[in-house]
Amino acid sequence: MKRPASTTKHLFVTGGVVSSLGKGITAASLALLLKRRGYRVRIQKLDPYLNVDPGTMSPYQHGEVYVTEDGAETDLDLGHYERFAEIECSQASNFTTGRIYSTVIARERRGEYLGETVQVIPHVTDEIKAAIRTLDDPEADIAITEIGGTVGDIESLPFLEAIRQFRNEIGADNALCLHLTLVPYIRAAGEMKTKPSQQSVGILREIGIIPDLLVCRCERPMDEEHFRKLALFCNVRRELVFAEEDVKHTIYEVPLELARQDLDKYVLELFGFHVSDLRLDDWQRMVERLIKPGAGKVEIAVVGKYIKLRDAYKSIYEALIHGGAAHDAEVVLRPVEAEELEADRKAAARRFAGCSGILVPGGFGDRGIEGKIAAVQYAREHKLPFLGICLGMQCAVIEFARHVCGLPEANSREFAGRTPDPVISLMANQEQVEDKGGTMRLGAYPCRLLAQSRAAAAYGALEVRERHRHRYEFNNQYREAMSRHGLRFSGLSPDGELVEIVELPEHPWFVACQFHPEFKSGPLRPHPLFRDFVGAAIENSTSKGEK
Ligand code: GLN
Repeated sequence: MKRPASTTKHLFVTGGVVSSLGKGITAASLALLLKRRGYRVRIQKLDPYLNVDPGTMSPYQHGEVYVTEDGAETDLDLGHYERFAEIECSQASNFTTGRIYSTVIARERRGEYLGETVQVIPHVTDEIKAAIRTLDDPEADIAITEIGGTVGDIESLPFLEAIRQFRNEIGADNALCLHLTLVPYIRAAGEMKTKPSQQSVGILREIGIIPDLLVCRCERPMDEEHFRKLALFCNVRRELVFAEEDVKHTIYEVPLELARQDLDKYVLELFGFHVSDLRLDDWQRMVERLIKPGAGKVEIAVVGKYIKLRDAYKSIYEALIHGGAAHDAEVVLRPVEAEELEADRKAAARRFAGCSGILVPGGFGDRGIEGKIAAVQYAREHKLPFLGICLGMQCAVIEFARHVCGLPEANSREFAGRTPDPVISLMANQEQVEDKGGTMRLGAYPCRLLAQSRAAAAYGALEVRERHRHRYEFNNQYREAMSRHGLRFSGLSPDGELVEIVELPEHPWFVACQFHPEFKSGPLRPHPLFRDFVGAAIENSTSKGEK
C-alpha cells in the first residue's frame, strides 16, 4: 500500500439528510478542540458548485463572501474556521467543482493528458485529491476537509469518490470520516427519528465510505436508545455517536458541548495520537460572558440590502457580538432594510428609535444606496456612533460631500457614471479596463494610521493590515476640500495614495473604513474598531439613560 508523503492525518466532514446543519461550525469546533489539545491543525472546504469561487454569487444565494488574508474570495464557513480555531485560511482553503474542472480542462488543452480520454474518474478525482493534499505538511498533524452539500446530491459524488480513493491510498488509520446528520423530532408522533440518518449513512456506504464518527444535530436531547439504534444501524461504535443539540444562546457553545462528549479525544485515539489535556478555560469564560453579560444590552442598527438573510452579513454580525463581549455587553442587532429609509424624511427617525449605533456594511450595486446615505446623515447629525465598512465608507464620503461640502450631486461612479462630483471613483489606471473582475482590490494591504486619531486609539498601533474587496476608491481630487470641511483622513496606504479610513473628529465616534475589519474579528480577539464602536454605542445609551 502507498504510504502518505507526509505524516498529516486527514479527517473528512460530510453532511447528510438536509443542508444547513452547520457542518462548518462542527468542523471549526473540532479544529479548535484539537488545537487546544496541542495539535497543529489545517482546515479546508470543498464546495460542489460550478462557480470557480463564490465571488460572483449573490449573498442571497450563498451568504457572505469571506475574504482571506491572501485575497481568496471564499465560502463563509472559512469565517467559522478563523473565528473558532484562529487558523488563517488561504487560497488553498476552498476549492469548488468549478475550480477543479478549470484546472483539468486547462491541463487537457495543454495536452498534458497525452492522448488519454479525460474523465471524472480518475482525472477529476485526482485533481480533488491534489486539493486535499495541499494540506499535507510536516508542520500539520491533522487536516480537516469539509465537503459542502449533502450526501446523495449528484454534485458531491466526485468529491466522495475522491475521499474513498484517498482513504485507500493513505490507509484507514490515517483518514477518518465524520458524518453530520439530522435526528428530527416529529411532533405528531412525539418521537425523534433515526431513519433519515440511517438512510444517509446507507448512501455513503453505497459509495464505499463507512463513517467512523456520527454527529447528530437535534432539537431535543437524544436518549440512550437513540444512540444505540444509530450505532447499530449505521455501523458506528456507540461511543462514536455524538449529539449536537441546538444551542440555547450562542454558537460558541458548540465546542464546549462536543468537548463534554469527548469528540476530540476519540478523534485523537482513532488516529493513534496521545490524548493530551484540553485547555478551554478562556473559551468557557467567553461563553459565560456572552450568556450572562454583566453590562446589559445595547441595540445597534445594521443598514443593508441583504437584510432578510442573516448569513449575508455573517462576519459583521459576529464581529458586533465580539465587540459587545469585550465590554461584557449584549449587542442586540437591528437589521434595517436600506430602501425603507428612502420612503420619507422621517423614516430614519422611526427606524433608528432606541438604537445606540449605526453600521453601514459593504455591498455592490445601487439598490438602497440613498437609504444608506440617509442612515449616515442621521448618525452624523444625531451624533450616533457610526461605523461604515467599504461601501459604508463610500456612502459616508458621499453624504459628507453632499451635505457638508455643498456638492449636492456628489456620488460614486459605480452608481452615477456622469456625476459632476465623483467623490468615489475607479483609480485612474483602471478607468479603461473592461473586465471588472480583474480590477478588484482583494486581500490584505497595509494601512498607516494618523497618530491621535480614533483609528489609532482603537488599534493602539500606527500600521495595520486589513482585508479588502472592492473596485472603487476615494477620489483624491476631493481630499483637500473635504479635509477643510472637517473630514479627517486617519488611515492611508503607505504611499499616501489610497484613503483607507475617514473619521469625524467633532463627532462622538464616527469612523468609516475602505477595508473589511469584520473578517479579522474573533470571540477571543474582538476587532479594535468593532470594540470601540460598540463601546461608543454603550456610552451613548447610558448617557441617554441618565438624561
Ligand atoms: N461596490 C463598492 C466597490 O466596488 C464597495 C464594495 C464593498 O463594499 N465590498 O468599491
